Amino acid sequence: MGRARQVAIFQDQMTPLRLAGHLSVLLVAATILFLSQADFPDLDIALRTVPNNALTGTENSDQNLRVVNAVTVLDQNLSISNDSLQRVAVPFTVAKERGRTAIETYRVEAGDTVLGIASRFGLQPETIQWSNTTLERNPDLLQIGDELKILPVDGVLHTVVAGDTLSSLATKYKTDVGAIVGYGNNGLADASAALIIGSEIVVPGGIKPYIPQAVVAYSGPIPASAARGSGTFSWPASGSVTQQYWNGHRAIDIGSWTGSPVKATDSGYVIAAGGGWNGGYGNHVIIDHGNGFTTLYAHLNSIYVRPGENVARGQQIGAIGNTGNSTGPHLHFEIRYQGVPRNPFTYLP
Ligand SMILES: [Zn+2]
Repeated sequence: MGRARQVAIFQDQMTPLRLAGHLSVLLVAATILFLSQADFPDLDIALRTVPNNALTGTENSDQNLRVVNAVTVLDQNLSISNDSLQRVAVPFTVAKERGRTAIETYRVEAGDTVLGIASRFGLQPETIQWSNTTLERNPDLLQIGDELKILPVDGVLHTVVAGDTLSSLATKYKTDVGAIVGYGNNGLADASAALIIGSEIVVPGGIKPYIPQAVVAYSGPIPASAARGSGTFSWPASGSVTQQYWNGHRAIDIGSWTGSPVKATDSGYVIAAGGGWNGGYGNHVIIDHGNGFTTLYAHLNSIYVRPGENVARGQQIGAIGNTGNSTGPHLHFEIRYQGVPRNPFTYLP
């Protein structure tokens, strides 16, 4: 059979095929037209939206509840009754977080840090510090069992003293009178309201200046033979960072087991090594690296160096402890340049 013949047969067969195709299209169209006009009482699908309060009862009268998504459920709410299918739209409700308005009390537990407590309450760590005077100088002064005041909003808690006025507080904490009066729980009718001495005023958005903690260190002459640092630092201890560097804690805390080694982060000359309160540092060592840098190691369990001693980078100078005031064994580590605390993370490898 030649190619021309095959094409001819194919063409001959196409005519009835095309006809059948056209007919089927018409049939489908007619069927659709018929179905769309037909009424099927036994398959009447109606979307019925049930009023919110019918489904969630009294809760829904609460303005704090909002419908975030209307979910169509097909379980028990899908009922086939009287030959009709009912789809019920059930609103999925989420309770809006109710803002706290009162000051709460939190009892400090083992392992707590100001940062951790702050994040638990959705606050800035400074707020915890600025509403608890014992933490103002050093958040490491947290002690197990301490009761902390937790403000409902970020800001400062101020105890009124003689001479305070709303405008003096606004100036002191770098905010405005309206913010203080606007905080309902302060119970202040307006900007001219008198302040009661001894009462506590929440200053929303208020800030306190940072006062660097003084360190008692050796200030005498440093011998020419004093070891000098390389300017690069190594980690002073192994463990996990339990408190980062932040405005109120210009140091890092490295949590580890009591007795684990604390090493000189760079070579230098020991200018302080001792115990005592020292503003909450407890047993601590300060090394002068001879290049403008000093490093401080606090809360030590034991100290292996003495003032006036040279230390090499990596040399063990003490052991991690829980001295001073702290909620668990950790090393409080500071790097200061010309006496000003720097973020150790920018210097550590
Ligand atoms: Zn610390």
